[in-house]
Amino acid sequence: MNYDTYGSNAVELAIDLANADRDDPAWVRLFLDAHLEWFTDGTALELDPADAGSIGLTAGLVRDVALAEKEADVMARLNALLALASPKPYATDHDGDLHLHYARPDAGAVEQLTTTVAMGLSQVVVQHGWQRLGVCSAESCGHVYVDTSRNASRRYCSNTCASRSTVAAYRARQRA
Ligand SMILES: [Zn+2]
Ligand SMILES: [Zn+2]
Repeated sequence: MNYDTYGSNAVELAIDLANADRDDPAWVRLFLDAHLEWFTDGTALELDPADAGSIGLTAGLVRDVALAEKEADVMARLNALLALASPKPYATDHDGDLHLHYARPDAGAVEQLTTTVAMGLSQVVVQHGWQRLGVCSAESCGHVYVDTSRNASRRYCSNTCASRSTVAAYRARQRA
């Protein structure tokens, strides 16, 4: 699968957001701190509860898109997510390579994050198919993933879950 680096990284950002552990009340701040490279220098990351709630909403929508099992549902949920985005393409070479950002550089953290995530996810779905998003097959995992494999054969969110499931299946066969 061959799509531009920024776009593919933006999808990974979306997946990370959807899989963030939201039990910790400080999860939004922890998430932003762990993904600082996605925000313009100087972006305020100390969010009020309303803004933190908006990021929770975005996380839930990304997850809903990945969980959808029909193209019509993927489209409806993707469009709900896109309705929250404010795309404003912006050319930059901040990392040494000329590329486009989806959000304007002076937007707040919520706008930057929601726009980047919504646009990145949409690009993958329209270019590579709605089946590219899924939920991990490992027992009691529940994380979502984007499948960038050539033959769209991915079933697990991570190598950890894949090998855990392989071992579990092997043990089950041994017992049988
Ligand atoms: Zn960049
Ligand atoms: Zn998993």
